[in-house]
Amino acid sequence: MTQEEDIEKRLSTVEQALTQIIHYITQQDTVVNQLSQTITQQMEEIKSKIDKVDRKYKKITPQPIFKNVIYSILTHCNLNCKGCSHFAPIVDKHFVSPEIIHKDLLKLANITGNDIPLLDIIGGEPLLHPDLIPIVIDARNIFPNSVIKIVTNGMLLPKQDEQFWIACFENNIELNVTKYPINLDFNKIEQTAKEYQVAYSYFGNSAIETKTMRKNPMDLHGKQDSRNNFLRCSLSNDCFIFREGYIYPCALVANSVYFNKRFNTNMKLSERDYIDVYSVKSYEELSYFLSRPVPFCRYCKISKITEGHPWQLSKCELSEWT
Ligand code: SF4
Repeated sequence: MTQEEDIEKRLSTVEQALTQIIHYITQQDTVVNQLSQTITQQMEEIKSKIDKVDRKYKKITPQPIFKNVIYSILTHCNLNCKGCSHFAPIVDKHFVSPEIIHKDLLKLANITGNDIPLLDIIGGEPLLHPDLIPIVIDARNIFPNSVIKIVTNGMLLPKQDEQFWIACFENNIELNVTKYPINLDFNKIEQTAKEYQVAYSYFGNSAIETKTMRKNPMDLHGKQDSRNNFLRCSLSNDCFIFREGYIYPCALVANSVYFNKRFNTNMKLSERDYIDVYSVKSYEELSYFLSRPVPFCRYCKISKITEGHPWQLSKCELSEWT
């Protein structure tokens, strides 16, 4: 064998060895990639399980400070969405008097040490209340440091006079408007708010996505597991409603009497479903109450909630809520 042939043979052997090494490394790479994908997937599953447990844990943890308090100054609405979670299309019309609201807010200030980051003034539709301006001025006097928002469908904003806009500006009252797919010039309203320097925002993501509705069906026989519902509910320990001296875990409980009246149903409301604020001795007592399921939770079918229904007007039919 010549020297050249010998070199060629050796080179060929080295080439084969290298090919084998590259093949081996590529195989290892694939294994490593597969392993990494599996680990990532497992991590995501574990994280999602931890998040779920965390959400449930939060539900039953008394809030160290209420992120917001929602006060309902009246029951009814001028829009009446299908399946409204406040039962607004079927409630009796009822305005809470400014005197009662004043007393309630003073008591709330007393219980919370005046420490509420956000006070939401809601209805029904709050702009229907004839005393809205004195009510929000009073709320500002009682809660000088809180953000105060009027949560509205905006329909009556084009009709508001200067007095309304000036009162909002002077008392630092914000407007939080849900942008329903209705014939309303939201740009013009935004412009007016800007002119009067009134803080203006849209509820949730209704400014960027067409507002849809969720259906929260009720079990009229109350055969559901209250505890399980409470743990999985997006409203529990989060969206409690304050009205006329009582705090309810959610609007469904607060307005259930109207539902029963309208549809002749018998969803029982017991004294354990709400709390009389005038009987509350401490913040801890109230936050503890809100972190526990109430008997009424057995009427909800939380696992059957569906989202993304096109917005429609209510026909006040039982099927909208069952
Ligand atoms: S009644 Fe209970 S489960 Fe039903 S929406 Fe209200 S807090 Fe949630």
